[in-house]
Amino acid sequence: MGLYDNASDVGGTWYWNRYPGALSDTESFCYRFSFDKELLDQGSWQTRYLTQPEILEYLNNVADRFDLRSSYQFNTKIVSTRFDEATGLWHVVTDKGETASAKYLITGLGLLSAINKPTFCGIDDYAGDIYHTGAWPEGVDLSGKRVGIIGTGSTGIQVIIALAPQVKHLTVFQRSAQYVVPIGNWPEDTETIDTYKANYDEIWKQIKSSNVAFGFVESTVAGIDVPEAERECVFEEAWQRGGGFRFMFETFNDVAISDEVNTSAANFIKRKIAKIVKDPEIARKLTPGDIYAKRPLCATDYYGVYNRKNVSLADVKDDPIAEFTTRGIRLASGIEHELDAVIFATGFDAVDGNYTKIDIRGRGGVTIRDKWADGPLGYLGMMEADFPNMFMILGPNGPFTNLPPSLESQVEWISDTIATMEADGRSTIEPTQEAEDAWVETCRTIANMTLFPKAESWIFGANIPGKKNAVMFYLGGLGNYRSELQSVRNSGYESMIFDRQTATTAL
Ligand code: NAP
Repeated sequence: MGLYDNASDVGGTWYWNRYPGALSDTESFCYRFSFDKELLDQGSWQTRYLTQPEILEYLNNVADRFDLRSSYQFNTKIVSTRFDEATGLWHVVTDKGETASAKYLITGLGLLSAINKPTFCGIDDYAGDIYHTGAWPEGVDLSGKRVGIIGTGSTGIQVIIALAPQVKHLTVFQRSAQYVVPIGNWPEDTETIDTYKANYDEIWKQIKSSNVAFGFVESTVAGIDVPEAERECVFEEAWQRGGGFRFMFETFNDVAISDEVNTSAANFIKRKIAKIVKDPEIARKLTPGDIYAKRPLCATDYYGVYNRKNVSLADVKDDPIAEFTTRGIRLASGIEHELDAVIFATGFDAVDGNYTKIDIRGRGGVTIRDKWADGPLGYLGMMEADFPNMFMILGPNGPFTNLPPSLESQVEWISDTIATMEADGRSTIEPTQEAEDAWVETCRTIANMTLFPKAESWIFGANIPGKKNAVMFYLGGLGNYRSELQSVRNSGYESMIFDRQTATTAL
């Protein structure tokens, strides 16, 4: 077995995203793997949410516990890989010119990993420091500096909150105003943690049969059947409890489905902004104009940051960034912001961003880039017609959830499938193009039942200029996704072609 990683150690997302304030917004008890009960029993945590160093430490412990590190070749990129129809093997070439061959190719290239760093005129002449949150170097100290940040997604809001008290001045370059609810982070005592441990089986059963897998029971109440005043009370309770996914999915079951309920939720947050932000003009700029249907955001007192004297907000939808100068950023209006450092919190070329960087070739030399020219589309978020024995962890059209339980579901399914292949003496497995098309259609149908496609976000590829808008996720929930995986297995993999080479020869 050969394992390759471009990084110098394990950790993936949590290796690269070391930016100030980095935190998971999944609660600590379920931002971990469920497959090892002992690991959970031994573990502990301080607060309701885990910080980046804590998660990285956890992942390092997992790697040590299962002695994974010794199988890895770090600091190594895969530049190309192709399926050889004659031998049924995948041949892999690294950036060091090394080659390797294997029957199975498993990719874990990351859902949110290939960074999106927009280019701006004059950026090379800028004399200050530039950072991207997704490739944050060790030992950066921005205390006392004039810092600019571009981007106000999940990442940007965390950086803004963390840096505002440290820096001399923070200028936020906001293109889209965001709906942000409180995260509700607080110390978690031993008793609470012990209760989670004692209820391990029930908790994980619930998570794996739920939709978003965030460790709470999703609401079954339709907001549309509830009077506006009552909705308001439910939103207020959720606001106090904290959690972005809780606010969207624990309140009512149609916040992301019904225009009317979505508007109620959006208006509730808008009123909070107006109350929290003292300067009405800043509050206006912070108030979103679109629907509430991006990946839900949460943080501690995000809007309150804008009451600080050392924080200013540049609305770059209204007054776009024209260029970088040697001293900072100049807007179209001519206003120049002098900055010692600029942080790009501009997100990722999600889902396929790392796949299309590698020359991946399946049957007949077809490349993944060509196959995904109209957007990445896959079968069950793991497989691709004409790419036999290739399994993608978090590939296109997989579930949109808290990620560890989805990762585990996929890894279990891949392991079972490979075990079946080996037990049955099979040489290759791949989905039929019909099965893949049907799965993509299922994903499209479900997505269109929600409001998510109506908001511009990375979920549908809208954040990357020129990227085709595509339904890249299965929004049917983890429970239903796991049932789909089970039924493929129970049917004897009837949506798959085994040993296609042999079948073709026999014809
Ligand atoms: P993101 O959600 O894509 O946000 C990127 C931000 O950069 C947006 O505000 C975007 O504005 C802005 N932007 C992009 N290009 C720009 C340009 N040329 N000029 C000005 N602004 C520009 O990326 P992210 O914040 O890194 O988050 C990505 C995902 O990672 C999240 O949705 C979440 O799933 C995950 N994540 C999770 C956590 C957590 O658990 N708390 C933390 C960080 C990230 P527009 O909105 O106008 O495009």
